[in-house]
Amino acid sequence: MSKIISKEKKLCMCCMKEHEVKIVRIMDDNIYKGVDIKYPANYYYCEDADEYYNDENQLSENDLSMKNEYRKKVGLLTSGEIISIREKYNISQTDLCILLGWGGKTITRYEGHQVQDMAHDSILRKIRDDAEWFLTLLDKSKDVISEDYYYKYRDNAALVLEKERESYLKKAIISNYAAYFYKPYYSGNRKLSFETVVDVINYTVNDNKENVFMNKMLKLLWYIDTLSFKKRGHAITGLVYQARPNGILPVSYEYLIDLDGINYEEVEIGEGIGYKLISSGLTEYNNLTEDDKKIIDIIKSTFNNISNELLLKKIKDEMAYQNTNIGDIVSFIQSENLSVS
Ligand SMILES: [Zn+2]
Repeated sequence: MSKIISKEKKLCMCCMKEHEVKIVRIMDDNIYKGVDIKYPANYYYCEDADEYYNDENQLSENDLSMKNEYRKKVGLLTSGEIISIREKYNISQTDLCILLGWGGKTITRYEGHQVQDMAHDSILRKIRDDAEWFLTLLDKSKDVISEDYYYKYRDNAALVLEKERESYLKKAIISNYAAYFYKPYYSGNRKLSFETVVDVINYTVNDNKENVFMNKMLKLLWYIDTLSFKKRGHAITGLVYQARPNGILPVSYEYLIDLDGINYEEVEIGEGIGYKLISSGLTEYNNLTEDDKKIIDIIKSTFNNISNELLLKKIKDEMAYQNTNIGDIVSFIQSENLSVS
C-alpha cells in the first residue's frame, strides 16, 4: 500500500529521463536492535521502470522515522518529543547539555538519529516535567552559561513554573467539583468556568471605592450566583457552595485566590493575613453578559461598605444557611428564599 505525497516533473534518477516523478509513502519494516519495526518511509517512484528509489535526504528521514518508531515501541521519547522539551524551556542544545552535565553534542544527537539510553531518557523526562529542577540545574551552571542566556532561561522557566502551578490548581479544583457537575441544583445549572469566576471578582473589585477582601468576596460570590439563579434559573460562575461554620463558601474556595487574573496584596490583620483584592485595571469582561453585570451591581450596592463580620451575620440569617446542615452543599433551590431581590 502506498500513498502519493506529491508529484513533480524532474530528472528521474532511476531511468535518467525527465518525467513526472511521484513521492510516495509506504510502510517499511526493519529489525532494529532486535526489535521488529514498521515505519512510514518516503520513496521516489519511477512509473517507467516500476521502481522505488531514495535520495540521500529521504534515506536520512526514513532512518529517523524508523528510529522514532523504535523509540515509541520500547517506551523512549521520540526525537520530536526531545525537541519539544528544549522548546518548552527555550534553551539551546549546547546549554541544555551543560545543565545536564552531558557532552556538548548529546542533545543534538538525540534530536536526530542516535537513540538515547534509558538512563538519559528518564533524565530528559524529569527535566521536562519539573521546571523547578530545571531552575536548580540552571543555577548550578550559572558561571558556565553566558549571563544574557542565564537570565533569559531563568525568566522563561519561571513562567513555565507559574503556568504549571495554575494548571495543577485548576485540576485540583475540577477534581473536587467532579461529583457536582451533573447536579444542577448544586452547580446552579452552570458548568464551572474559571474565567467567569475571575471576571466576576474583577468586576466586583474594579471601580469599587471600598477595599474588598477575599473573605468578603467569597460570600458575595454566593449572593451573586444565588440572585442570578433566583432571577433566571441559572447561576453565573458554576461554583458549588458549602455551608460552613463561617458562612457559605465555594467548594475549594482556598484555591480561588491563586487563579490567574486575580490580583491581591497580603495585609496583616491582627494575628492573621488578609487578602486585599486589587483592581485588575481591565474594563472588558468577556465572560459576563450585561444581565450578569446588573446582578453583580445589585449585590455590590446591597453589601457596599458592609464589614465582613456583618455580612457573615446576614449570610447566617439566610434561609439557605438555616436549612442546610454544616458541611452539606447549599442547594440553589433555596434561592427563592434569598433576602435580596
Ligand atoms: Zn524514471
